Amino acid sequence: MTIGVPKEIKNNENRVAVTPAGVEALVAAGHSLSIQKSAGEGSGFLDSAYQQAGATIVETAAEAWAANMVMKVKEPIESEFQYFRNDLILFTYLHLAAEPKLTQALLESKVTAIAYETIQLPNGTLPLLTPMSEVAGRMAVQVGASFLEKPNGGKGVLLSGVPGVRRAKVAIIGGGVAGTNAAKIAVGLGAEVTILDNNLDRLRQLDDIFGYQVSTLASNSSTIAQAVKYSDLVIGAVLIPGAKSPKLVTEAMVASMETGSVIVDVAIDQGGIFETADHVTTHDNPTYVKNNVIHYSVGNMPGAVPYTSTIALTNATLGYALQIAGKGYKKAFADNAALLKGLNTFEGSVTYKAVADVYGYHF
Ligand code: NAD
Repeated sequence: MTIGVPKEIKNNENRVAVTPAGVEALVAAGHSLSIQKSAGEGSGFLDSAYQQAGATIVETAAEAWAANMVMKVKEPIESEFQYFRNDLILFTYLHLAAEPKLTQALLESKVTAIAYETIQLPNGTLPLLTPMSEVAGRMAVQVGASFLEKPNGGKGVLLSGVPGVRRAKVAIIGGGVAGTNAAKIAVGLGAEVTILDNNLDRLRQLDDIFGYQVSTLASNSSTIAQAVKYSDLVIGAVLIPGAKSPKLVTEAMVASMETGSVIVDVAIDQGGIFETADHVTTHDNPTYVKNNVIHYSVGNMPGAVPYTSTIALTNATLGYALQIAGKGYKKAFADNAALLKGLNTFEGSVTYKAVADVYGYHF
């Protein structure tokens, strides 16, 4: 099969869908790769590395899109719709429930569109979303620590403290993938860490993982209010699958924090859990201050570390790409129910229930 990898053109998107190592594996399996010129540059992968791995570098997006299967990172934007055709397999993040124009374009051109974010294992986990939550969770503590520094507007607290001075208090609301990864880094940096989750079994697992290095609290408005008030850094990492995030932290709770404290709302891509975090920010201008508290609410945190994020993403996508390209999508779907869950549009119909429901399509 021919596989095309266009350069990402969304603002500030430096990731790329396949690494040179991924190219090597796909070429070894007998496939031909067309990588658009400089597609990997933002992630630190030069055209020469792709060539060495066996890919052909093509000048234009059109040449990359001409392949049997196109692999991308972000959902196509309008200027890319012209490349859609009925024998194209598109394998990328799609988020169709929030993308009516893209959905329409995929249906009209009868693209076979497989969304990374809806591939789902039998245990309910989303293997192609997990790596980005890992990255964002780990980054949340790194950026939080940085904005606690005085020159960055923070209250001037070092996460670990020093002998004779208290450690910083970090509260993490939501103890799933992002929250657990945030906890790992916060514990590693020596902070006093509290994790709040409303799933008691999850809190038991976290207690087993971290032992006495973290405190766990059953999440409710009273425990959240207490934890927020006394924390230097609060990280929002709640997810209710398929729904907007609940506003668990009220403006009054934020106002109760000390001046110069920091909030990192990782869940902002689903609407955010802080009443005061009312808009998505960008890496160019990541923070704003409300109630004397610094708010960081970047919607694509992994975009700041494209080298790590690209490798983490392709580690997760490559196995599925090999199955689709090796067996053809029909056999790959028949053999792998998790992959079939990724199919969002096929022969002009929506084939993923949550997306069909949003647009009132028959499913
Ligand atoms: P996850 O499903 O692994 O974890 C979510 C956790 O929230 C679960 O443990 C769940 O029990 C808990 N939860 C649900 N309701 C709660 C409540 N009322 N109080 C406390 N906890 C509650 O999800 P995840 O993969 O860790 O993702 C977390 C969020 O991070 C999502 O919104 C995801 O989209 C977002 N995310 C953002 C970025 C970014 O760049 N901003 C990147 C990756 C992921």
